[in-house]
Amino acid sequence: MRFEYEAAPEDTTHVNLQDSYGLFINGEFTSAQDGKTFQTLNPATEEVLADVAYAAESDVDRAVKAAQSAYDTVWSKLTGKERGKYIYRIARRLQEKARELAVLESLDGGKPIKEARDVDIPLAANHFFYYAGWADKLSYATFGGPPKSLGVVGQVIPWNFPLLMAAWKIAPALAAGNTVVLKPAETTPLTALHLCKLFQEIDLPKGVVNIICGDGATGANLIKHPGIKKVAFTGSTKVGKQIAQIAHAHQKAVTLELGGKGAHIIFEDAAINQAVEGVVRGIYFNQGHVCCAGSRLFVQERVMDAVIERLSRRIETLRVGNPLDKNTDIGAINSKMQLDKINDYISIGIDEGAKVRRSSCKLPTRGYFCAPTFFTDVSPAHRIAREEIFGPVLSVLSFRTTEEVIQKANNSPYGLSAGIWSEKGSKVLAVSQRLEAGIIWDNTFNQFDPAAPFGGYKESGFGREGGMQGLYPYLSV
Ligand code: NAP
Ligand code: MG
Repeated sequence: MRFEYEAAPEDTTHVNLQDSYGLFINGEFTSAQDGKTFQTLNPATEEVLADVAYAAESDVDRAVKAAQSAYDTVWSKLTGKERGKYIYRIARRLQEKARELAVLESLDGGKPIKEARDVDIPLAANHFFYYAGWADKLSYATFGGPPKSLGVVGQVIPWNFPLLMAAWKIAPALAAGNTVVLKPAETTPLTALHLCKLFQEIDLPKGVVNIICGDGATGANLIKHPGIKKVAFTGSTKVGKQIAQIAHAHQKAVTLELGGKGAHIIFEDAAINQAVEGVVRGIYFNQGHVCCAGSRLFVQERVMDAVIERLSRRIETLRVGNPLDKNTDIGAINSKMQLDKINDYISIGIDEGAKVRRSSCKLPTRGYFCAPTFFTDVSPAHRIAREEIFGPVLSVLSFRTTEEVIQKANNSPYGLSAGIWSEKGSKVLAVSQRLEAGIIWDNTFNQFDPAAPFGGYKESGFGREGGMQGLYPYLSV
């Protein structure tokens, strides 16, 4: 049975959305030197939200020089305790501004307001709180002697968790004593730019964090700039490989957080209803735009029918539509390009002979939307079982024995995440030790904590973000 709800739209009147935004260089918003701009859209309505300055090579250079000067004259001279105070202030101001930032995140990227409000923004604040606590403890921790900062770091982030990815990058870099130039994704620059207003409000010294907007060319100019000592990139494996080459050629330190095709495993002794909720969280959270999504579901044969029956019923109850409606479970796909890519994969899956099941929900006529979808009768050789789709599309495969599922799960170029559902703790531990994945969830999925290191194996990248491990890439030890 499907309940009808009254629409419950989030209020947007408190959001100070500007018509245009500059680049944030040396503590001020400034136009690009050649005056070039681009537009960011609301993917749920296809309307333009704002014009944003586009950083060309000369703007990248200005930003790196501002960060270098801030490093030399201010930030590298502060004690860890003083740096920590600034980072705590950022965290607290983020909490105070949470409502505005949540609405902006939802408007600019299409994610449901309840996720922006309950996940993205609180986790971003937690990240700053967590690393603020590290700033004055670096010389006591087990780094093998007092560690040194590196200098100016260049960071490039994707569009799926715009503010959260900015926090993952900026917080440890500042705690470790570096200064930052960061490039947000082209489709979602707004929350990073509003974060800059918070930097102004808390009097963060000028130039310590600089935000430059633009496209892939801007990102490429940033990472190859000779002033950048360390590169941190989150995005696709394809671009990550190019970045690794450039960074190595210029002898820069580099960490890469790339794509994934997470194995989500349900053993026959699992609590099936909870496991199906875990599957929903694993693949339909944030429209499936999640690097660690559980996009390959392995179900032990004896419970396959029960899982499919429950999952078919459950996707009918997911509410797809206006991201600003507090009832919405699945918002808009981030861009037209991404929607086309997802739809291509759905056609590929059908052509490959897999059986498609989709929610019968009605999609809005404007904006970029995709109904929750899953495929059964999938074989490990199918492209939909091997390639990252980055949308609300799940591939379901079966297995009989534990050995078989370990082999199938590891049979992937990626190695970012996995999840295991079983009543037996000993089985979960034994299997998890043999899975090639950086993050493994035990009877849950897609849970994040700033104290827990996150990162991949194989083509999912290298280096860790979060936890004490997340400080290493920003320190010379
Ligand atoms: P993407 O195309 O690789 O873009 C990521 C960022 O790099 C964007 O800011 C992009 O700018 C920029 N960029 C593009 N080409 C570049 C180049 N040649 N040099 C330097 N920068 C360049 O990835 P995406 O489609 O935005 O993001 C989705 C991918 O990110 C997925 O594969 C997902 O799995 C991965 N991801 C991984 C993690 C993790 O922690 N492992 C977390 C989130 C997402 P534009 O926006 O202008 O293209
Ligand atoms: Mg946008």
